[in-house]
Amino acid sequence: MTTTVENESPKRSLNFIEQMVEEDIRNGFDGGRIQTRFPPEPNGYLHIGHAKAICMDFGIAENYNGICNLRFDDTNPVKEDVEYVDSIMADIAWLGFEWKSVFYASDYFQQLFDLAIRLIKEGKAYVDEQSAETIAQQKGTPTTAGTESPYRNRPVEENLELFMKMSRGEVAEGAMVLRAKIDMASSNMHFRDPIMYRIITSVEHHRTGNTWKVYPMYDYAHGQSDYFEGVTHSLCTLEFEVHRPLYDWFIDQFADSDYRPKQREFNRLNITYTVMSKRKMLQLVQEGLVNGWDDPRMPTVSGLRRRGYSAKAIRAFIDKIGYTKTEAMNDVSLLESAAREDLKPRAPRVCAILDPIKLVITNYPENSSETLTTENNPEAPELGNRDLTFAREVYIERGDFMEDAPKDFFRLSPGGREVRLKSAYIIKATGCKKDEQGNVVEVYCEYDPNSKSGTEGGNRKVKSTINWVEVNNSVEAEVRLYDRLFSVENPSAEEGDFRDLINPNSLQIIQGCRVEPYLASAKALDNFQFLKVGYFNLDPDSTAEKLIFNRTVSLKDTWAKKA
Ligand code: ATP
Ligand code: MG
Repeated sequence: MTTTVENESPKRSLNFIEQMVEEDIRNGFDGGRIQTRFPPEPNGYLHIGHAKAICMDFGIAENYNGICNLRFDDTNPVKEDVEYVDSIMADIAWLGFEWKSVFYASDYFQQLFDLAIRLIKEGKAYVDEQSAETIAQQKGTPTTAGTESPYRNRPVEENLELFMKMSRGEVAEGAMVLRAKIDMASSNMHFRDPIMYRIITSVEHHRTGNTWKVYPMYDYAHGQSDYFEGVTHSLCTLEFEVHRPLYDWFIDQFADSDYRPKQREFNRLNITYTVMSKRKMLQLVQEGLVNGWDDPRMPTVSGLRRRGYSAKAIRAFIDKIGYTKTEAMNDVSLLESAAREDLKPRAPRVCAILDPIKLVITNYPENSSETLTTENNPEAPELGNRDLTFAREVYIERGDFMEDAPKDFFRLSPGGREVRLKSAYIIKATGCKKDEQGNVVEVYCEYDPNSKSGTEGGNRKVKSTINWVEVNNSVEAEVRLYDRLFSVENPSAEEGDFRDLINPNSLQIIQGCRVEPYLASAKALDNFQFLKVGYFNLDPDSTAEKLIFNRTVSLKDTWAKKA
């Protein structure tokens, strides 16, 4: 029999990477030392997939008494920028992780260059003058060998001379590359003379300026950088598994000790109804299809933050989905439920009327008001109570009134049932006023003065409770309702242009909402539950004159697949 001890959360079982790390520690691999790195390319903002890698890289270091460094993989100046460097650091810190040191692959450009010279001198690298297309054509297929370049066997001296010319900027972009001379018939395509260096002269590097005219390719730079830094476990996503032998090969060419960093791979995070390729996200931003990298519809860390997600919710989600060795697609509703679980016990619960209509309580004295009190969150007594002003005129949701209501309508209708105004009194509709078009513009009701919540009469039960805010003590607000950014589950798997698959209703802006005055003192990103509506937070665009709220997530999963 098992017993549950309170306050002791069950420890989840170790994932395969943690198992490996524990075994390495037991076996004294690298002296039992643990050093990881998170290696983003500063060519975009971090997305929640990166957060998964971050939780792994930093988590392993934290849990096993090791260190994790942040290394910017800045080997392609064409796409990189300091804006991205800054946002990446801010997002990692916000997620709650601390790096030991910050490194840049560009710090190693000289060392990498020197090693490339050494490889040329050892006859293991050559300058190829063929075009990128020709080189690609000669790659062969997994089952047929590639074709050797006619430049493959040029003398060492000539290779050295040409590589120096490339590096001095004397050769046009694309005219030459440096390739490792490995095996054009290898069953691993990555061994078929991979490109080590390409020429880039037209743009400045965000750190090294115009110093370099040749830039190292990922496979060459990444493993060497790990080696230079003393990384023990180089953790990355599964698409790099086929690169691993080449990663090892490059390190073997130069290693002067037995130490070897160990590359291991886990599954990427893929989420339904979104895209997580930085190229596609950049397109969305640049073409104004979303409002910036931190648009609350984006799967970026900054977008989720602005949407009302906490770091805790994101980390709980990542912990829940875990790490495996097979690619899969995760349902976005899992992420959304992590937000609900985080917010339910801590977000103050307030009334916000999205589509207001005025309700006049005709038997309530005119020019009079009273102060009621309500709990901020019954699940969090430490949040205390707040005061509400109640008076003769309040706003309610238009949808909470129906003039001719069917029997199963439990809210307000003349001659219909009694309804409780949340934390206040029981009322009964008596009628309404309409404009010339027949639209209801005002609703009338009478209240039961002996039914106040919190008093003995307040215990009287009625079928439904509706939200309200007092007319003179409420504040106007704009509410932004977000839906999924794409209308198909996996936009990247569809043919055609992914932009055509954007959900046209992914953002609905509602003006003229009325909210409790309590919300006027909210700070940017503060979270709330709008009773019956969903979880919302204050958008940083808000001003004292205009409150703006984002819907983080609805109260329930309205997209849940029908069984
Ligand atoms: P893109 O190809 O869209 O530019 P990337 O994967 O190349 O993205 P990097 O900045 O190179 O982005 O990634 C840094 C680290 O984050 C890498 O170790 C990579 O494996 C990891 N990573 C990137 N995307 C995901 C994802 N969807 N799930 C888990 N880890 C990811
Ligand atoms: Mg990359």
